[in-house]
Amino acid sequence: AISVGIYSALQKSLKEKPEKIIEEIENSGLRGRGGAGFPTGRKMRFVAQSESPVKYIICNADESEPLVFKDRVLIDTNPHKLLEGMALAAYAVGAQEGYIYIRGEYKPQALRLENAIHQAKERGLLGERIQGTDFSFHIKVHRGAGAYICGEETALIESLEGKRGEPRIRPPFPATYGYHGHPTVVNNVETFATIPDIILHGASWYRSVGTSACPGTKLFIILGHVNRPTLFEAPYGISLRQAIEEFGGGMQPDSEFHFALTGGAAGTLVPSSLLDVPIDYTSTSKGVSLGAGAFLICDQTVSPLVLLRELLFFFEKESCGKCTPCRVGTYQSRQILDRMIARKSITGDLETLQNLADLLQNTSFCGLGQSVAIPMKSAFTHFAEHFKE
Ligand code: SF4
Repeated sequence: AISVGIYSALQKSLKEKPEKIIEEIENSGLRGRGGAGFPTGRKMRFVAQSESPVKYIICNADESEPLVFKDRVLIDTNPHKLLEGMALAAYAVGAQEGYIYIRGEYKPQALRLENAIHQAKERGLLGERIQGTDFSFHIKVHRGAGAYICGEETALIESLEGKRGEPRIRPPFPATYGYHGHPTVVNNVETFATIPDIILHGASWYRSVGTSACPGTKLFIILGHVNRPTLFEAPYGISLRQAIEEFGGGMQPDSEFHFALTGGAAGTLVPSSLLDVPIDYTSTSKGVSLGAGAFLICDQTVSPLVLLRELLFFFEKESCGKCTPCRVGTYQSRQILDRMIARKSITGDLETLQNLADLLQNTSFCGLGQSVAIPMKSAFTHFAEHFKE
């Protein structure tokens, strides 16, 4: 990868002012790919503006969202793209040190990254005085221990500091109070890996596809009852119907589209009436969330109620336990869904389940608990007939 031009964006940028990178990323409209879609350039500018002499870059490679494996593929196919993106962000904001917090199960990918860091250092593309300039940047790889909550950026930072992986109260956000209290840029693998191409080809090139709210392309994953489960890159604004027909090879023989889970575990349950909604970070308001970009396509044999129960079971297990609404709310919701599936509901179960969704959304401490309500509420809206007591 190094011999075919990776790091040429870094080499180009090192001859220019760091501000140029931030301007280009802001103009490109690049949004963080972890699921929240926060503008990447704005985050960089917050950190760049800080006068702190110590700043950090953290790559969130925790990728523990069910259905999602795009970051693993990116690391497998081109780890240098990620390293270059991190180095560009470091040069832009004035950081000297970076960490890649990688999911514990991704041991081969952690080794691949360590090898890539070594290769880049040998060629003077990482480490001390990169390419003979005053800019030094070191990257270390840190393996997580398998907690879903450590994909939340503040829990990730706590874990990286050697503490129990629990979210921090926000604000302050990591851009002002991050790793060991210093300004920190946290982005995921896909976001960092997108930066070099934007710097090389320019913001207007990047904006030439996608939607006005979300320019560019994104990696998507399609799984379930389609002929060709796959990972693919497409512009933002693609619809579920396009994903199924153009990339998934259509529905399997004898399968009819029933619904899809879009985004990831905390995504939306989408009925056929929403198959043509253009999907980006703004489409959650129309009932189709993008999240981390996974689409699980379910045919007539899958019950939305049963799928929702599995999601609640997952959140119950992965709740970090710090706050009561999430710790107890996920457990109680899963219990009610178990009763509904067994046709042993007790009076008031549906109302309690709806109240629990509100409670989770409004009173959970962090995004994990708050977002559990998303699949619950979309199931209530579109598949009410399945929730008979
Ligand atoms: Fe932990 Fe859940 Fe509370 Fe987040 S919402 S702090 S994951 S218990």
